[in-house]
Amino acid sequence: MEFSVLAEAYEKLEATRGRLEMMAILSELFKKAKPDEIEKIIYLSQGVVAPPFEGIEVGIGEKFVEEAIALATGYPKKKVEESYRKTGDLGKTAEELLSSKQQMSLFSHPLSVQKVFDNFMKMAKTSGAGSQEMKIKGLVELLNNANPKEVRYITRFPLGRLRLGIGDPTILDALSAYKAGDKSLREELERAYNLCSDLGLVGRTLFSDGIEGIRKFKIKVFNPVRPALAERLPSAEEIIEKLGKCAVERKYDGLRMEVHKQGEKVEIFSRRLERMTQMFPEVVAGIRKQVKAKEAIFEGEALAYNEVAGEYYPFQLTMQRKRKYNVKEKAEEYPLNLFAFDVLYADGEDYTRHPYHERRKRLEKLIAAGSVIKLSEMTITDDPKKLEEFFEDSIERGMEGIVAKDLNAQYNAGARKFAWIKLKRSYKGELADTVDLAIIGYFLGKGMRAKFKFGGLLCAVYDEKADMFKSIAKIGSGFSEEKMKQLEEMLGKIKVDHKLARVESEIKPDFWVDLKYIVAVAADEITRSPTHTAGKEKGESGYALRFPRMMELREDKSPEEATTVKEIIEIYKMQKRIQLEEF
Ligand code: AMP
Repeated sequence: MEFSVLAEAYEKLEATRGRLEMMAILSELFKKAKPDEIEKIIYLSQGVVAPPFEGIEVGIGEKFVEEAIALATGYPKKKVEESYRKTGDLGKTAEELLSSKQQMSLFSHPLSVQKVFDNFMKMAKTSGAGSQEMKIKGLVELLNNANPKEVRYITRFPLGRLRLGIGDPTILDALSAYKAGDKSLREELERAYNLCSDLGLVGRTLFSDGIEGIRKFKIKVFNPVRPALAERLPSAEEIIEKLGKCAVERKYDGLRMEVHKQGEKVEIFSRRLERMTQMFPEVVAGIRKQVKAKEAIFEGEALAYNEVAGEYYPFQLTMQRKRKYNVKEKAEEYPLNLFAFDVLYADGEDYTRHPYHERRKRLEKLIAAGSVIKLSEMTITDDPKKLEEFFEDSIERGMEGIVAKDLNAQYNAGARKFAWIKLKRSYKGELADTVDLAIIGYFLGKGMRAKFKFGGLLCAVYDEKADMFKSIAKIGSGFSEEKMKQLEEMLGKIKVDHKLARVESEIKPDFWVDLKYIVAVAADEITRSPTHTAGKEKGESGYALRFPRMMELREDKSPEEATTVKEIIEIYKMQKRIQLEEF
């Protein structure tokens, strides 16, 4: 496929405001692809050269891209910078400058998708001395052979600013539409995706082996599985009502780890499926020592334990370990314990379809006694009183609460189901639990805050069904001066000039932004609201947070992991019931 076909589709996608339309453009694009191209088309459209868990990034700074544009156009760098100041988008700058140059140069031959992908991949893989020059060369070569429209996307891509706003669900729908003409294959495609976290691989399998290949899809060591998520209920009674006899585990407030092991090779993935292996040498050593299988995939929650006080350190301290520096010192100062709570695969057997009670048994056999990995503490009961006691005891010991688990449920990769139900501190009065919101825009500062060019955030929850982000709160408090500066800088880099197709909001911020950041937000309660779009049905009000306050950035979560509309409605119902009970 010629790259111009992709560039044209991108132009259409950029102008699109609706998700269905987006899906249609993509499925049309897929129809033009050959089996060996689909994977690359999917990655490129997501702005990556490999599935995100591979961590392969083109990684080239603005200054170097400016240099590449200068080299390709023959204009001095100053002119490039000047134009960039005006357009605010190096893609547009390159497009403008190259089209004025085009009269002079005849571009040689059309670029193929393959060539563009290969160059980006080469750029991503060069490192060390002279790597920036190599990257510039790779980019100049593409720019020299591209038409103005292609240039726009070729320039944005390595900067990570393609900004097409295509979510995973849209690609899955588009693959289904390509094959079946409708969304009927979505569920099966999604299952394959949940097992491998690689949309390119799902696309390639569908193109080469059809839906049969997708049905036969198998879990693979070192391909992270998308994590199962927990629903919530407000009381022990309701949990027992829902599950009957169930397993109740402590809810550790740490860092979720998905461990993959094959012989001596170990990888640890975060809940966002990023590789974190290098950051936790003591956990890796523990895994090598204590896991009694050649091959295994299991999950646990890691946290630092304070032996002197006999209690766990708070989450923030565990999170400090997610840094690249002083890993060794930190590992010695605050060694982590890993509480294993599920097994997904062991020595050739895929356990995701086995019921919980079987998985737990396998997990108990998998982990040998030792100082690093422990089994999550668990009890089985059908008595709400016992559950309540276990819950109170967990809170007293500094844990977040409990997670109750359906004894007969399979592992629901990538899904939030009632197979796992969390119970956290009471929902009385103030919202006890913070909610995680996606930042969709921000406001300029007024008065005292004018100098920070930042006055607050516009935030959204995630509507899983529609794959849309819907506004729920305007947040104006919880910011220190330092935080405001930091936010302005971070958000300034991802400003977009229009509302994204996957965002629904009637409130217009001063700037819209790309979906990238999640913030934990505390609030007094959830109220009905005519101005916010979260949970809004025709003619009815939506939901909003009362007195929202920013607590912290949640860099361990991706936009799709924001609290969902469904969860907000559940919390709203619980809150209402508690209010009724109190009067
Ligand atoms: P939440 O992040 O509030 O939706 O709660 C779900 C998270 O609790 C999971 O993603 C895990 O990181 C964490 N967790 C802690 N202990 C457990 C456990 N025993 N079983 C499952 N998840 C747990």
